[in-house]
Amino acid sequence: MTSLSLRADCAHCAALCCVALAFDRSDQFAFHKPAGEPCRNLTACGACRIHGSRASQGFPGCMTYDCQGAGQRVTQGLFGGRSWLDDVELLQPMADAFLTVTRAHRALALLHQAGKLALSPAEHAERGRVGAALEAAAADAEQVARLEAQTWSFLRGLRSEVVRELMASVSHLPHPAPRRTLRPPTLSSDQPPPRSESQSGPLRRSGKRGPAGARAASDG
Ligand code: SF4
Ligand code: SF4
Repeated sequence: MTSLSLRADCAHCAALCCVALAFDRSDQFAFHKPAGEPCRNLTACGACRIHGSRASQGFPGCMTYDCQGAGQRVTQGLFGGRSWLDDVELLQPMADAFLTVTRAHRALALLHQAGKLALSPAEHAERGRVGAALEAAAADAEQVARLEAQTWSFLRGLRSEVVRELMASVSHLPHPAPRRTLRPPTLSSDQPPPRSESQSGPLRRSGKRGPAGARAASDG
């Protein structure tokens, strides 16, 4: 259905989850962070200075988060590898795009899982249509919100045994947003629907995963 990767690739991302998302002080995060503000554990080169000890320093929530591929898609696909770390003017647009693309990828991941189940030809066709439109919508917040609603409508319309199977199949997936921890910004009533994942020089390469995770401070 989609050629997009639905797993985080932190090595090709500008630490977007560590900036765009808010989190609350809890057993998952040691302090409160508002949305759109870089985490204070993030270094100037986009590394997490506590990467190797996040659990013991009160940030286990960072280790279970997975943007489902939104981070690298925004950084590489929509911003051509540029980063807010090099140009602060990019911070807000990248954060906005990340929140929208995160929502699109969450819906795409559900549609992808649904495609493995016993759908009718008509259901397969509808799944493909919504998925293709979601992929094409990229960071268009209005389109993504509309297609997200269509995704849920499609999933609700499936036979109950298929829905049960789908829920069982996604229960093992990484958290796109640990409950009551990482969350998108609070919206006021006059805001649009939720826009909803290089350091100086080339983006850092690292095989590690997790928000910014991805990068240990000692790396850069
Ligand atoms: S992974 Fe990101 S959000 Fe978590 S502590 Fe490190 S810099 Fe902060
Ligand atoms: S988990 Fe965070 S650092 Fe990793 S790719 Fe996603 S947004 Fe980027």
